[in-house]
Amino acid sequence: MSRTYRMIVVKKSKKITPHLQRVIFTGDDLADFPENQESGYVKLLFSNDGQAINDRDRVGEEKHLKRTYTIRSFSREENELIIEFSLHGHKSGPASTWAELTKPGDKILIAGPGSTKLVNNQSDWFLLAGDMSGLPALCCNLEQLPKNAQGYAVIEVISELDKQTLKMPDGIAVKWIINNKPGENSDALLNAIKALSWKDGNPYIWVACEFDSMKKIRHYMKNSRNIEQENMYISSYWKFDRTEEQHRIDRRIYLETPLFIQILWKIITRFQKFRFLKR
Ligand SMILES: Cc1cc2nc3c(=O)[nH]c(=O)nc-3n(C[C@H](O)[C@H](O)[C@H](O)COP(=O)(O)OP(=O)(O)OC[C@H]3O[C@@H](n4cnc5c(N)ncnc54)[C@H](O)[C@@H]3O)c2cc1C
Repeated sequence: MSRTYRMIVVKKSKKITPHLQRVIFTGDDLADFPENQESGYVKLLFSNDGQAINDRDRVGEEKHLKRTYTIRSFSREENELIIEFSLHGHKSGPASTWAELTKPGDKILIAGPGSTKLVNNQSDWFLLAGDMSGLPALCCNLEQLPKNAQGYAVIEVISELDKQTLKMPDGIAVKWIINNKPGENSDALLNAIKALSWKDGNPYIWVACEFDSMKKIRHYMKNSRNIEQENMYISSYWKFDRTEEQHRIDRRIYLETPLFIQILWKIITRFQKFRFLKR
C-alpha cells in the first residue's frame, strides 16, 4: 500500500439507507489519486481520542489510529472519491462516529490506495456474500461482472430499510438477510449460503464480513465445497467487540499461527480486561 498521505475534504455526506452513510470527498490531493481502484481501500487517520487527523505535522508526531474503507468509486473528472461507512450504533468507533457527524468542509488524511479485491471474471459463476462493511466492495464487484454472469449475491443488512437497489447482471440473484445484531449471529450468512442451490462449473467465491462469520464460511468452502484458494477471496472486515487494531492482531494469529496458539490467544482475549489489550 502506498504510504503517501493525502488530505481529502468532505463535499457531501448523506445516509443512503439508515445504516449506510455515503461520503463524497474532494480536494487538491486527489489530483494524482490513481483511477480504477474501486474495491481497493484507503486508510483514514484518527487520533487516539477519535478525532480526524487533518494536520500533516501530526502524523508521525503522535501514535494514530487507522481505519480501513473501500474505495466505492473515484472520478478523476469530478475529482470525487466516494466511501460508504456502515453505522453500527452503540458499538461505534472513531470512524463510524466521525462519518455519521461529518459535514462539508471537514478534512481528514488518508493513506493508500491498497489493492483491489475483485473476482476472477473468467469463472463459470459467482457467489458474493457480505455484511454492511463488505457491501461497498461487493457492489464494486457486481458492477464490473460480465453482462452474462450467473450466480448469487447474499447480503446481510441491519434492517429491512437497508436493502438497496443494486446494479448487476440479470443472472445474479440477490438474497437479503436481516440481522439487527451484527456479529452476534455469526451463522446467518453461512446458513443463507448453504441454502443456495450449487450451480455446475467452477465458481468464484467472494466474501467480506465479520471475523467469526468469515471463519465459518472459509471452513465450509474449503472443506465441504473443495474450493481452491485461487478461486476465493474470503476476508474479515471487522470483528465483534474488537477494535480494528485488535481485529488485525486476531486475524494474523488465525491466519499465521498453529491451532494451539490460536486457542491460547482466544483464552487470553476472553480476559481482555488486561490494560495492554484494551486500545
Ligand atoms: C479491506 C477492508 C475494507 C473495508 N471497507 C469498509 C467499507 O467500505 N465500509 C465499512 O463500513 N466498513 C469497511 N471496512 C470495515 C471497517 O474498517 C471496520 O468496521 C472498522 O472497525 C470501523 O472502524 P470504527 O472506528 O467505526 O470501529 P472500531 O473502533 O474499529 O470498533 C469499535 C467497535 O465497533 C464494532 N464494529 C466495527 N465495525 C463494525 C461493523 N461493521 N458492524 C458492527 N460493529 C462493528 C467493533 O466490534 C468494536 O466493538 C473494511 C475493512 C477492510 C479490512
